[in-house]
Amino acid sequence: MAKTQPLTVACQLEVSNTLAKEIDETLLVFATACDWVNANTPKKMTNKTAMQSLVYQDVRTNFGLSANLAIQAIRRVCANRKTAKQKGKKVKEFRATSISYDARIFSFREDDWTISIKLLNSRQRIKLLIGNYQVGWLKGKDPRASTLVKRKNGDYYIHITLDEPTQPETETDQVLGCDLGRTDIATTSEGKSWSGKQITDKRNHYAKLRAMIHKKASKGTRSSRRRCRQLLARLSGKEKRFQKHINHKISRQLVNNAVTNQQSIVIEDLTGIRERTNKKPRSRKEQRLGNNWAFYQLRQFLTYKCVLAGVKLILVNPAYTSLSCYKCLVIGERKGKGFSCNNCGNKCDADYNGAQNIKALGAIINRPGGSGLSCQLNAEIQYIQLNLFDSLGLLKTPHTA
Ligand SMILES: [Zn+2]
Repeated sequence: MAKTQPLTVACQLEVSNTLAKEIDETLLVFATACDWVNANTPKKMTNKTAMQSLVYQDVRTNFGLSANLAIQAIRRVCANRKTAKQKGKKVKEFRATSISYDARIFSFREDDWTISIKLLNSRQRIKLLIGNYQVGWLKGKDPRASTLVKRKNGDYYIHITLDEPTQPETETDQVLGCDLGRTDIATTSEGKSWSGKQITDKRNHYAKLRAMIHKKASKGTRSSRRRCRQLLARLSGKEKRFQKHINHKISRQLVNNAVTNQQSIVIEDLTGIRERTNKKPRSRKEQRLGNNWAFYQLRQFLTYKCVLAGVKLILVNPAYTSLSCYKCLVIGERKGKGFSCNNCGNKCDADYNGAQNIKALGAIINRPGGSGLSCQLNAEIQYIQLNLFDSLGLLKTPHTA
């Protein structure tokens, strides 16, 4: 069987007032049932079969949930406990904002672009409010799972899970180095770059607006303060959507470039930073970008688009990519956006220099027959040695005056 990659398509639902009531009620009962399960099962239990045999009947009789919704509630508790355990935290109180569905209580119909889901008292067919983007993904598909979500602004969405077939990875010795998120959003070893200016401008614009609204709110009446709060929430949504749009665009162009030129893509390995919060970041860049959701999102988009398109994604250690001159490997100097090397006289954009180093490291790892951890380590050691030899003057004689 072909490999697949799960993808989520978010679709807004057309919900009347009466339907909203039943959905809200279902969300509330589902969350309450989860809380109850969490409180009435042994704290360390995370096995869904064991938990089910323990509390399934009670969940059904106490909360009046259908068989499958009861099972979904129990699964939700197990899943949340596992995540909480990984993070070393306790399971929080369940909020009445989402319910998971599988094929027994969820279906999608393409004829009239509707879904059908089980609620507390009935099974409801609901129209999707979607555009070309969602239609493109859903056409001809038979999704088997979804999540019903109530957003903060009160809109209802169904997040439909699609198992997209992936392309087998293309074997190639061509690599495209990408430096993500230094001063520009992305710069490639081919010299293409996506400036962050557009986003910074937009962010500054919103920041000014927010400041104005805050000032207004501090003087206003209660109702005008509420209106200001709503306005602020809408602004932050707009900002996020704009960033998301840009991230989709950049990742799409990078992957298209790799497909057209039969390349693998090389980026810095900053994956662990979120999970290793108690560990020291390996570079200043890692420190700066560790909690940056926009940067994290761009990497996520790039990763899944690579998998879908069969483009190999190579990760390299970020520790040495910004320091050395890509032409002669001697440690150079950075000033603002510029990089200059006293040894060979190379002067270029700092991000471009980074992208070239990332490409060089990736190319070493990507050598035929070399795609393991040991190879990655070797490549890094080789690179550090080169730098070390250089700084000791063993590799070349510096021509500095
Ligand atoms: Zn140089």
